Amino acid sequence: MSNPSSDQLYDLVITGATVLTGAPAGHVIDDAVIAVSNGRFARIEPAGAIGAPLRARRTVHLPGRVITPGLVNVHTHANLSMVRGVAEDLGFAPAYTPGIPQGHMVTPEEAYAIARLGALEALLFGSTLINDTFVHADIVTPAMAEIGLRVWSCGRIHDVDFSGVSVGRWDYVDAIGEKTLQDAIDLAERFEGKSGGRIGVQLAAHAPDTCSTPFLRRIARAAEETGLRVTTHLSQSKVELARIRERDDKSPPELLDEIGLLNERLTAAHCIHVSDSDIARIGKAGIHVAHIAKGNATGATIAPTHKLRAAGAKLALGTDNMHADMVEVMRWALAVGRIQLGAVTPDWQPATVFEMATMAGARAMGLEEEIGSIEVGKQADFVAFDFRQPHLTPATNPLGNLVHVAQGRDVELVAVGGEVMVEGGRPTRVDAEAIRRDAAAAIAALWKRAREG
Ligand SMILES: [Zn+2]
Repeated sequence: MSNPSSDQLYDLVITGATVLTGAPAGHVIDDAVIAVSNGRFARIEPAGAIGAPLRARRTVHLPGRVITPGLVNVHTHANLSMVRGVAEDLGFAPAYTPGIPQGHMVTPEEAYAIARLGALEALLFGSTLINDTFVHADIVTPAMAEIGLRVWSCGRIHDVDFSGVSVGRWDYVDAIGEKTLQDAIDLAERFEGKSGGRIGVQLAAHAPDTCSTPFLRRIARAAEETGLRVTTHLSQSKVELARIRERDDKSPPELLDEIGLLNERLTAAHCIHVSDSDIARIGKAGIHVAHIAKGNATGATIAPTHKLRAAGAKLALGTDNMHADMVEVMRWALAVGRIQLGAVTPDWQPATVFEMATMAGARAMGLEEEIGSIEVGKQADFVAFDFRQPHLTPATNPLGNLVHVAQGRDVELVAVGGEVMVEGGRPTRVDAEAIRRDAAAAIAALWKRAREG
């Protein structure tokens, strides 16, 4: 705890709200005072513990609101908002699906417009960090970060020719691999720490089947050389399993383990189709699993969450190509976890999924000292939900309401690094309607080309 003097002038003070600090997940402070200085939390105390009102450049009184740490979405593709309302019903990941717009079809201008839509949606719903991978990362990364949230980004790294994958052809091309990997390394050199420190990079190896085995080794070397963390899709589909079995006579986790990528610096999305020995391997390695609770359940699959957790895997949450409401994802994670157990137990409670959406996400990003909870000294990333609404009344247990009842649309204010990026449910730095209009036009053009083949 800092030792604040009574005449200190804070940059921002928030009063009147109930705060779920996330440290630990069930901790609640009613009628709290949050003071922010130099972008970081300087004080978090009950109002009763503070004598005279704190002096601040700006004070915002938020009675009836519930404040949480910023939500951390560890696996998403903002650009895939282009296939929303359709991809959810095709039963498979968009990259493997014919007849819909694909990443290799997206122009830089279109990527810019659509990524901003996805990032804006995420921010408005209370995500203060997204780990986003897709295409044209050099253009979309700063464009998304400008909107106000933290963007950990990377172009997808692969040596497969994606134009064949959706029609069942896996052609590996050295030049594609070299370019996508070099682009990722260049991205980190150019942008890491930029946009007020809101940009970071993880090496996004797309998936075991879309990277050849020699190329996966090359990525592992690059991760060692650069010190960058790695993110991937893992054991996402039976197609991936069949490809790796045919190609390497291994399971995807076995392959990544042999190559040296299966470790605590890896965040792997999905981990659905895993055997008991895969689960043991994943757990022993201590990887972070991006549990895509809503997206996978919608696709009629789900990761074996209990077994993974019991084995030692660390579960965080992601939206993947579904819409970017992490509140809804918490709710799905709770529900599917209970369905898998066939009971309501202490294994899956609101605090469990709240922790997954906050601190576990921060750990997956290697940022647990900086974000993920409302604690003195950490970056002041927080979200105020407006609980003064019929569906959130009564708030007998605010955390229970947040997970069972609230929606991303209940977010009223979002701060990132102490700067208010959303106020009154509107972005403070960008024109939401212009972003929506530009993205809609770009997506319409893409669908037209996809339909024309
Ligand atoms: Zn994904």
